[in-house]
Amino acid sequence: MLNSVYMPQILDGAPVRERILDGLKPRIKRLPRPPGLAVVLVGDDAASSQYVRNKIKTCMEVGIYSEKLTPPATSTTEELLAVIDGLNQRHDIDAILVQMPLPSHVDTRRLLEAVAPDKDADGFHPVNVGHLVAGRPAPRSCTPAGILELLKYYRVPIDGRRAVVVGRSDIVGKPMTLMLLAENATVTICHSRTSNLAEECRRADILVAAVGKPALVTAEFIAPGATVIDVGTSRITDAAEAERLGKTEQFARQGAAWVGDVHPLDVRRVAAAYSPVPGGVGPLTIAMLMTNTVDLAERHAK
Ligand code: NAP
Repeated sequence: MLNSVYMPQILDGAPVRERILDGLKPRIKRLPRPPGLAVVLVGDDAASSQYVRNKIKTCMEVGIYSEKLTPPATSTTEELLAVIDGLNQRHDIDAILVQMPLPSHVDTRRLLEAVAPDKDADGFHPVNVGHLVAGRPAPRSCTPAGILELLKYYRVPIDGRRAVVVGRSDIVGKPMTLMLLAENATVTICHSRTSNLAEECRRADILVAAVGKPALVTAEFIAPGATVIDVGTSRITDAAEAERLGKTEQFARQGAAWVGDVHPLDVRRVAAAYSPVPGGVGPLTIAMLMTNTVDLAERHAK
């Protein structure tokens, strides 16, 4: 008789992304004009340029009009504020995204707050954060909104469950906490000053790791049967480290490997379900950006 090998469910983001994008296409067709997304890419950082290319490609895939503005890295805060102001005035632009990070001399907060709340593609504006706190519809931060879609697609129970979010950033950890709370989870938020992090995490039915530290979450952090969502994405270039994390093949192909905050071998031994890196949460962030853009366009059409 063969020994049965324990395999947790893999929460693959690709089919969820497809379902979200397919759901947007008929909504876009019903609008009087294509939704418009403006992306402001300051300077020529290679990683940011690649992210923007992927966003624009997805716009084309679903039928969203997109426009890329590329002010130079030397632009002042005032000059960039003028760019945002111009976009706020335009009737063909429903949503504005300022690609992060901005050059260090730019006042990021002022720029993000200059985007009109009803054109806030990323849901970062304090007015929209307030709407999230109050449980009102508004653009929502894309990565945590995508995680919620992932959990729902795979029918992971949230109501009444204990969720632990590691990381308290404004773009992932905090909005994730609020979204899980709105779904009636009992939520704990952890950060770099949390004592007994492993013990806190072990209480979770749903554990979300959004830190940016490769393989921080090991077996002792995970309750048997938990659902683990890995948001972290770190690139490792050390062959021995890649081997230790079971990423030898990827490393051999690419000369580097992408790893999450969750130890990829440990999670397979303990969790009931987990989202892998790459391929779990990653595909959903852009899908939710498209969703925010269409939601805003529908609002403007009314
Ligand atoms: P961030 O702004 O750097 O926040 C990291 C958070 O982790 C902070 O709250 C920090 O705590 C906490 N932290 C740091 N070290 C810790 C430790 N040893 N134990 C517990 N908590 C610790 O990062 P972020 O923007 O939220 O992103 C987090 C990760 O997700 C990154 O790897 C990023 O690349 C990835 N990400 C992926 C996507 C995607 O689409 N897949 C989207 C967004 C982000 P303090 O507040 O105390 O400093």
